[in-house]
Amino acid sequence: MRIAVLSGKGGTGKTLVSVNLAAAAKASTYIDCDVEEPNGHLFFKPEWVQVEKISVKIPKVDNELCNGCRKCVDFCKFNALAYIKNKLIVFDDVCHSCGGCILVCPERALTEKAKVIGKVQKGVSGEVAVWTGILNTGEATGIPIIKKLLEENSEVNKQTFIDCPPGSACIVMESIKDADYCILVAEPTLFGVHNLNMVYDLVKLFNKPFGVVLNKCLDEENPAEKFCFENNIKILGRIPFDNELGTLNSNAEIAVNRNEKYRELFSSLLNKVTKEVQHETTTNP
Ligand code: SF4
Ligand code: SF4
Repeated sequence: MRIAVLSGKGGTGKTLVSVNLAAAAKASTYIDCDVEEPNGHLFFKPEWVQVEKISVKIPKVDNELCNGCRKCVDFCKFNALAYIKNKLIVFDDVCHSCGGCILVCPERALTEKAKVIGKVQKGVSGEVAVWTGILNTGEATGIPIIKKLLEENSEVNKQTFIDCPPGSACIVMESIKDADYCILVAEPTLFGVHNLNMVYDLVKLFNKPFGVVLNKCLDEENPAEKFCFENNIKILGRIPFDNELGTLNSNAEIAVNRNEKYRELFSSLLNKVTKEVQHETTTNP
């Protein structure tokens, strides 16, 4: 069972939710796909961490063989190649590693070389496997790192919680595409509604079953809750805005391991999500 946790912007509480659900599930896998700013590992403090570098293939030109025909330049839809002053230039940062230019070169002047864009760290924290994707500063896309993280997570019987990048861009799509269920985390403000709407559109586009967790709830009108009522969206749970949780969170402590109240809250949320997934599996096998 793969549960993706997402939100329209950072700081909404998706790491809080995914970390605490993984901790409440005990034997589970937590995957941090927020590769530009991964921070779930700060909560789990994993041990026995193994690191694997992730690289992509980019073209390398042999100037002795290149005759300047520009067929590769015309082929590249990403404008990653230019022929300037009798020399083929490769713009690594915008290359999508499709390999097409290598195939179209009539002189066989292009070959592949590996370029490291980041890494994957795998460790354990109690019964939770903690996997983290880290994109090197300045790299254009973390999609190859996310692919690596999710392809290797084949233990389908184990509960897996995917902490997605914020927003609704390609990198988020990659993170949710094989998820069994999506949890959308929303803040109780008009901005929160705007951000919720972004990920709501995304999960509808992918036809994913989903529900909403309302975070930072106060005893007053909640525009995100109103949005859910108006759009007939299932509310899975409400996390109160309180100092105790804020302090635990800012000290990178896992609330379910420190406080019985939060253990109950996240265990109940986990039960609800598990039932939702089971329901989906039986009604849409
Ligand atoms: S590998 Fe693909 S994206 Fe990269 S330069 Fe060649 S054609 Fe362009
Ligand atoms: S297609 Fe080959 S020969 Fe032509 S410009 Fe590109 S690298 Fe050079």
